[in-house]
Amino acid sequence: MNHTKVGGQYPFLKKGGEMGELIRAKNWANTLVGPIDDWPQSLKTALSILLHSKFPKFLFWGPDLICFYNDAFRPSLGKDGKHPAMLGEKGEDYWGEIWHIIKPLIDQVLTDGEATWSEDQLIPIYRNGAIENVYWTFSYSPISDETNTVAGVWVTCIETTQNILSKQKLEDSKDQLHFAVEAAKLGTWDYQPQTNVFRANKRLQQWFNLPGPDVDPNIAYQMVDEPDRDRVRKAIEWSMQYESGGEYDITYKIIRLDSDEKRTIRAIGRSWFNENKEVYRFNGILQDVTDQVLAEKENKLLSTIVAQSNEFIGMASPDNYVKYLNPAAMKMLGWDDYKNRKIEECVYPEDLPKAKKLIKKLLKQDYFSQEMRFLNEKTGEPFWLQWNGISIRDEKTNKISGLATTSPNIEEHKHAEAQLREAFSKVEESEKRFRKVADHAPVLIMMTDDEGKIRFVNKLWIDFIGTSLKQYLGSDTLKNMHPEDEDAYNFICTPAFARKEEYRVEYRVRRFDGNYRWISEIGVPRFTEDGHFEGYINAAMDIHDIKMQEHQKDLFIGMASHELKTPVTSIKGYTQVLKARYEESEDELLKNSLEIIDKQIRVLTSLISDLLDLSKMKTGGLELNMEIFDLNELIKNIVQEITLINPEFEIKFSEGKGKNVFADRERIGQVLINLLNNAVKYSPRSRRIEIESAFTAKKVKVNVRDYGIGINKENQKKIFNRFFREEGKDETTFPGFGIGLYITSDIIKKHNGTIGVNSTKGEGSDFYFTLPLQQPKT
Ligand code: ADP
Repeated sequence: MNHTKVGGQYPFLKKGGEMGELIRAKNWANTLVGPIDDWPQSLKTALSILLHSKFPKFLFWGPDLICFYNDAFRPSLGKDGKHPAMLGEKGEDYWGEIWHIIKPLIDQVLTDGEATWSEDQLIPIYRNGAIENVYWTFSYSPISDETNTVAGVWVTCIETTQNILSKQKLEDSKDQLHFAVEAAKLGTWDYQPQTNVFRANKRLQQWFNLPGPDVDPNIAYQMVDEPDRDRVRKAIEWSMQYESGGEYDITYKIIRLDSDEKRTIRAIGRSWFNENKEVYRFNGILQDVTDQVLAEKENKLLSTIVAQSNEFIGMASPDNYVKYLNPAAMKMLGWDDYKNRKIEECVYPEDLPKAKKLIKKLLKQDYFSQEMRFLNEKTGEPFWLQWNGISIRDEKTNKISGLATTSPNIEEHKHAEAQLREAFSKVEESEKRFRKVADHAPVLIMMTDDEGKIRFVNKLWIDFIGTSLKQYLGSDTLKNMHPEDEDAYNFICTPAFARKEEYRVEYRVRRFDGNYRWISEIGVPRFTEDGHFEGYINAAMDIHDIKMQEHQKDLFIGMASHELKTPVTSIKGYTQVLKARYEESEDELLKNSLEIIDKQIRVLTSLISDLLDLSKMKTGGLELNMEIFDLNELIKNIVQEITLINPEFEIKFSEGKGKNVFADRERIGQVLINLLNNAVKYSPRSRRIEIESAFTAKKVKVNVRDYGIGINKENQKKIFNRFFREEGKDETTFPGFGIGLYITSDIIKKHNGTIGVNSTKGEGSDFYFTLPLQQPKT
């Protein structure tokens, strides 16, 4: 058949588009609808409408439901699918995949003659080489033939796949947005100036305790914390001006009414403008950033601390690359930058092997702390760190995510340590030297520590005692003291130890041969440069032989004075007798001689009685006969007596109020005579002597003041010692043994009193003693 010719014959196909051409070109003779020429007019009319419609149309014709469709429908069949094969073929053959859906609809139209309507229905079809989800809105409607029976089904349809997909997409993105808003716990707002309505989402309504989604913007505005309100208002006003570009991003505080607390929020939004540059919308989100702000503050604080710390603080990756160093660390290392540098580069090369081991260990254990030398790159000098390494683990995986360190610089400490070591070795050396000297010295030398424990005893001591050194080190005493001397030793030493003062003491020690020997010991406290007490060093000498000689001498003095006393007393008696007999004589030489003899006898008597007292003191025989007596009375008597013998002296007594004392009358008399006699004796030029008594509730004080030669400062304490006499051209001219004050002070001490002197050389002396005014015990 000639196609062109045929085409020309069928006006209903004219301008029927691609499908019109295809119908015309197809050889219909062998199809179920037969050649075109045999087609009923109703089919041709239907096809004419179909082909000329711009709306997608499909036609099922005849009992076999033969398929026709127009150009508008064609795209819905896709590429390489049913088109053009399905044209003129049975519907069932080509719509197999959807036949179960559409066949009932077709049947419904065929039997009832009524049209159907389906909207956005998913009817997946085969196209583009696959089954595709295709959405349709369609109507099936009947077409009648010449006999008025329904001969076909019109399908007017439109594919809505795109619509549906965009709708779905929109829904999806809406869902996503909603999800994001929910997940981020955002508040959202939308304000429309035209209506002056402020719309808030649920969360914002909760925060602000709003009555509903749409409110007067002023209500929302009131929720802004008072101090921030003005700032927020200005930011909103600015955003709503066209020049701002609509930007709005501000952080401020609100009072959240749901929890009644102040929270910090960040608002991000924008204003929208129409062509007239008028704002028609202002919307955005609010985020509660309180925790974030707090964390940020904390972070800031932490970083300030880290930055200002003078410790070496740093972080590194697990493969040892430095990720952070604080300024102190950079300074210590002398680095300008830490990028692409490794931990190993910080370490002083000599210490590197040790450091590497530590870093390796850190991958297994979580912490190390070790003294380590790091290197200052600029100076090339090492510095000491107390290197603390910490491994940081990922919370979830527990894998090491980094290495960190905060290490104090112990350079100074190390320096001090070295100095100390050096000082120690110096001390050790000097101590060695000292021991050597001490061991060879002809003195017994011992050292104790601040607790009184023996720390050193020289060789002489050990030889002297005859035991091994070990026995004494660390103990309190040598434990060889004569038991009888312990009290005297403690009496002197205990207060000296307590006051950390120098002391001198004599006591007996048992020697290696079992004999007790007198030693004289002097102890000197030791102090460090900064005044810290370190103990005593004491040196002692064996004075046993001297002591024995002294004893002999004392015995001799005792004996001699005793023996002298009788003849002197006798001479004294006869002198008195002679004086009385020749009182009226005119022989002046005789009278003067007797006077001189009498005076000298008195001196002699007093010397002998002093000597006797001395030996009594030595043997412990000087005992007190205590009684109550009137001290002022005693003083008056003695002053009278002295004046009688020394009429050239004017002795002035200032009598204190009070009188009775409890003491040995005779001995106190002896004390007064001694002091007054000295005042007379040591006043070669002055004739004035003052004596004074002063009573308080507890004691009486007596002063004897002269204007004589006075005493050197350094000798003022010594004059109370036995046999001490000041030396000088004056002093030697005065007779005496230097024992009067010794006895005097002994008497006063025995009374529990005190004695002393204030004197200036060349101006005179002021001797005083005190006696306690205690009542006799009955
Ligand atoms: P003496 O028998 O030598 O006087 P004392 O024990 O009485 O012995 O005195 C000791 C020393 O004290 C004296 O030698 C003298 O140097 C000094 N001395 C004592 N009293 C006085 C005084 N009033 N003025 C100056 N020196 C004094």
